[in-house]
Parts: sequence; C-alpha cells; structure tokens
Amino acid sequence: MIVPLLCFSGTMDAAEFRRRGREMVDYVADYLENIEQRPVYPDVEPGYLRSLIPTEAPLEPDNYDDIIKDVERIIMPGVTHWQSPYFFAYFPAASSYPAMLADMLCGAIGCIGFSWAASPACTELETVMLDWLGKMLKLPEHFIAGTHGHGGGVIQSTASEATLMSLLAARCKAVRRVQETNPERLEAEVLSKLVAYSSEQAHSSVERASLIGGVMMRKVPTDNTYAVGGGMLKKMLEEDRAAGLIPFYFCATLGTTSSCAFDHITELGPICNEENMWMHIDAAYAGSAFICPEFRPLLNGIEFADSFNFNPHKWLLINFDCSTMWVKKRQDIIGAFKVEPLYLKHENQESGLVTDYRHWQIPLGRRFRSLKMWFVFRLYGIEGLQAHIRKQVVLAKEFESLVRADKRFEICAEVVMGLVCFRLKGSNELNQLLLKRITESRTIHLVPCQLSGLFVLRFAVCSRVTDSGHVQHAWRQITQLSCELLQSDH
Ligand SMILES: *Cc1c(COP(=O)(O)O)cnc(C)c1O
Repeated sequence: MIVPLLCFSGTMDAAEFRRRGREMVDYVADYLENIEQRPVYPDVEPGYLRSLIPTEAPLEPDNYDDIIKDVERIIMPGVTHWQSPYFFAYFPAASSYPAMLADMLCGAIGCIGFSWAASPACTELETVMLDWLGKMLKLPEHFIAGTHGHGGGVIQSTASEATLMSLLAARCKAVRRVQETNPERLEAEVLSKLVAYSSEQAHSSVERASLIGGVMMRKVPTDNTYAVGGGMLKKMLEEDRAAGLIPFYFCATLGTTSSCAFDHITELGPICNEENMWMHIDAAYAGSAFICPEFRPLLNGIEFADSFNFNPHKWLLINFDCSTMWVKKRQDIIGAFKVEPLYLKHENQESGLVTDYRHWQIPLGRRFRSLKMWFVFRLYGIEGLQAHIRKQVVLAKEFESLVRADKRFEICAEVVMGLVCFRLKGSNELNQLLLKRITESRTIHLVPCQLSGLFVLRFAVCSRVTDSGHVQHAWRQITQLSCELLQSDH
C-alpha cells in the first residue's frame, strides 16, 4: 500500500500535474475571492513557523494532499495578505490573473535568457515590450530600441538593481572620462573623489547603491513639498567642485516613498547635463501613472535623463518581479562590465542587431518576464490599465476628503496619486499609539513615515479590488480607534 503511494506523489507526472494544477487554480481563485475574510495582518510571534514543521527535509517523498493541508495550517496563519483590499501599507504589489497565468508559462518554458541565443523569444519579446511600454509613457525617442536605436529597455528584478546598475555605469563612465584627459590619475584615486547625489527623501536603496558601489553620496535637502529643486543641487555642486571632488551622478525621484513627492527634473536635468553628470530617475511607484495623459506632465524633463526606471510590479497589474529600466545609450551600460567567456558566445552576437541582456544586469540568469507584460497589456489594453490607475487615485482622494472633514486630523502632503499622508493633530507618541492599535486590530494594515520630524501615517491604495466600501470601512476603523485613544489618557 505505502510503496505505490510514495512513488506516485514523489514523481508528479503530467496527468497528476493536470489534476493538481486545476486544483491549485481553484485554490488560488478561492483565496483571492475570499481574501477580505482573512485578517490582513497575521497574529504570530517571530519563530512561530519552526515549531510547526520538521527540523529536516523528508527522506522519502511526502504526500501532496498533506502539503496542501499544511499550506492552510502553517503558511496562511503567517501571511500578510498584500492582495487584501484592507491592505494600505507600503505601496501596492501588483497582481492580476493574466500576469499569474503568464508566470506559469514562464515557469514551464523555464529558459534562462541571458543572451539572444539562449532563447531568442525571451530577448526579443522583452525588447518589444519595453518599446510598447516606453511608448505608452511617451518616453523620448532615444529610449526606444526600435530596430536602429542606441537606447532601449530591460527588465530588472527591482528598482534597487536598476539604481545600482545606473550608478555603476555612471561610475565607470566618469573614471574613463577623467583618465582620458589625465592618464596619470589612478582609478582608485579618481574613485575616491567621485560624488553621487540624491534627495534626502530618496528611497533607502539609493543610498545602498552608493555603499555597494563604493562611492560617496550626498543627500540634497528638499523644499517644503519634500522635492529637490535645481538651486539646492547647484549649491552643493559648487561646494564640492571647489573641494576638488568630482560630481558624477544624480538620482532624482518621481513619487518618493514617504509622501509621493516629485523632484523638479526640468530644473535638475539641465544642471546634470551641463555638469556631465549621469541623471537617473527612480519612479518606482509613480511611473505607472504616466500612462495617463493627466499625469504625464510630471514626467516632463525625462529628456535630460540618462536612465529611467519604474516598477510595473507595483502599480501596473504585473506581478513581482518586473522593474522596467530604459537607458539613453545602451553602450554606457553594456560597455561598463563586459566579460565574454567562450561558453556564452554565439555566432549572431557580432551582427549588431542582437541584444544580450546579461550585459545589462548584475546576474547572468534571467526569467522570461516579458510574458507577463505581454499578457497584461493585451488583456487589459492601455485603457484598462489607465482605468485601474484612475480608480485608485479617486479612492485616495476619497480617503483624503474623509480626513480633511475631521478636524482632529491633518493631511501632511499633497495627494497626487494613490497615497495619503495624514496624522492626528498632536504628538508623535499619540500617532505612534494610534498606528500600534491599528496594527493590533489586524483589520486594516498601514505603515508610517517621517516628514519634517513628524510621525505620519501612510494610507496607500494597494489591492486591485479595493473599492469605496473598503476605504470607508478603513476610515471608520481609524476614527473609532482614535476616539478610544483620545478618550483614554493613553
Ligand atoms: C518601492 C521603491 C523602491 C524599491 O523598489 P524595489 O523594486 O523593491 O527595489 C525604490 N524607490 C522608490 C521610490 C520606491 O517607492
């Protein structure tokens, strides 16, 4: 009895896969359809899981039904339900059925598309999808690969990697430029003089890129809207040049993580161009909204950028991971770290028509992620994607008016997209306590940020299925917890 069962479950064949696959699709659809019945935030202590599973992997195959049972018993109690309509934390993690299906196909093809020859469709669909998306955003022509372009796009795993790649490419370019006119200067000495810049409101991954890249980074102070303007950058550049340093890179943010502020790239771009500095634009969250004509003006100034990146895996219904990056001159990024072992060479690469994406990224291996873009773009259409963005912005505005109508609260930053920064008028301690009560309630989930020294609550419209009812419910929950808090002497 036992032996056939073990063989059966341990080696899933195509027939079994068909059956289990259909079951899994049902499980996934049930999970998502009923997700709002689950507490959005889990009630577990650190280390909860270890006590629930064996200390070693099984020597003999386990049974599939037991694994599925354990998903509800062991995994789900410790899941934060990012796709719940009551999830308002961080930024959205995009998700849609077409993207999930495409990801399944990606798993099935299972190619590792590091070069054109490693799977031509993987490379070619990616190039075309990045052109489609670039055109949806009305990016300047030099970012579009087309058939003869010098620029083009690539899918990175995350915005963090896109920033790092741009910084490393800029670093390489800067060193080469200095050494062209001063061949006696050693690379190590030039590197020690390079300075990168970013907003003090930039995402932590930007500072991290400078730490990994081994260059100094200075943080540019922001104005009263939490955005960087040209004046501030210019002043720092003058100081640093006078001190013998070499400014080489500026990372602008469109849609900061704390408050969705937009750096003034129409002022900053020309400065970067004049100073021979690489300008990278990180629009991880807000970038998706630029497919709507009413938000596109916020991208004006993009023509000055050397590289641009945003995360369709945040707000464009394409499941993680899909971070799209465009460069003005692909040679800047390809030429920075080119290594060509014989086993990766192929006969077509000399033709000039071929893209080998391994030169555009840090890892060698890469998945067929453009399938997700293709499925989503075709099944939603640009109009469907625009409708998704607009709906979420309307919901954020609805939440904003609820906050504004209550005199005990204040709005802390302009609501431009799907993020509302707000707080109870009063001390930071009071707001910290409010957030603690919200988190403990497990019915809605939010995270804080700090703005001008104030502890602020961030309400981000996240789930694809969030609607007005969920926003109203969230506000009732917040005001009820606030009442309790203000009545007690906390
Ligand atoms: C979310 C975010 C990031 C980080 O995104 P990853 O893709 O997880 O690296 C970077 N910058 C900004 C502005 C963000 O909002």
